[in-house]
Amino acid sequence: MNDTINPEIIALRTLQKQDRRLTVLERKLAAIPARVKELNGDLQALEHMLDNERGKLEETRAFQARQESQLAEEEDHVRQGKARLGQVKNTREYNATKREIDSTREMMNARTKKIAELKSAVAETEARIAKMDGALQGLRAQAESENARLQADQAKYERAIAKSQKSRSKLTSGVSKSILRNYERIRRRTGSLAFVPAHRERCTACKMVIPHIIYTQLLKGKEILPCESCSRLLYWSGHFPADEKKHEPKPKAAPGT
Ligand SMILES: [Zn+2]
Repeated sequence: MNDTINPEIIALRTLQKQDRRLTVLERKLAAIPARVKELNGDLQALEHMLDNERGKLEETRAFQARQESQLAEEEDHVRQGKARLGQVKNTREYNATKREIDSTREMMNARTKKIAELKSAVAETEARIAKMDGALQGLRAQAESENARLQADQAKYERAIAKSQKSRSKLTSGVSKSILRNYERIRRRTGSLAFVPAHRERCTACKMVIPHIIYTQLLKGKEILPCESCSRLLYWSGHFPADEKKHEPKPKAAPGT
């Protein structure tokens, strides 16, 4: 039946199909930079956390080193005090030196405990860093492969879009300027279909009844006419078996099946 209808109808219907594919491609293409940014953001956040942990680790290590050198000084001090004990001239001097040794030893005990705590904190931080580093390596590898995939996708979408735009200009040359303008305007307004089938005397988009006189003209397949309710452009579903089948009500399943 298609050979008896106005080729403009076929061209516009094909154009719409292609435009919908084009829109999908354009959306996919537009989503790529955001995804790349997101991936890089995740990487940077993890790198930043890791840098922070490493900075803290360095501070703790420096603090531990200071404590260790102080401990060594205190050990020296005790050693010197012990040597002095053998040379004291009286009990008073002996007691004073002994007290000094004892108080240094007390400080040493506290410092040794502190150093042990610092060592375990360092070990914990090192373990945490190793784990984060592992996660970072994994994320980097993942981001790298995803970036490569996104780049390939981008090239693929760009090629498909270019191809689609080229064949689009061929299709638009088969549609009159005023119809094309209406089609573009409705597409922009509704964000969806602008050229819709009329089926069983109703517009399949807004479901309103089409006046008989208009429906009769649509059946002839010569003109593209607007729906009086939603102003979308109409064609008769019967000219395209796929459209007819799509809009034909499905037979209801018998109860109990
Ligand atoms: Zn309508």
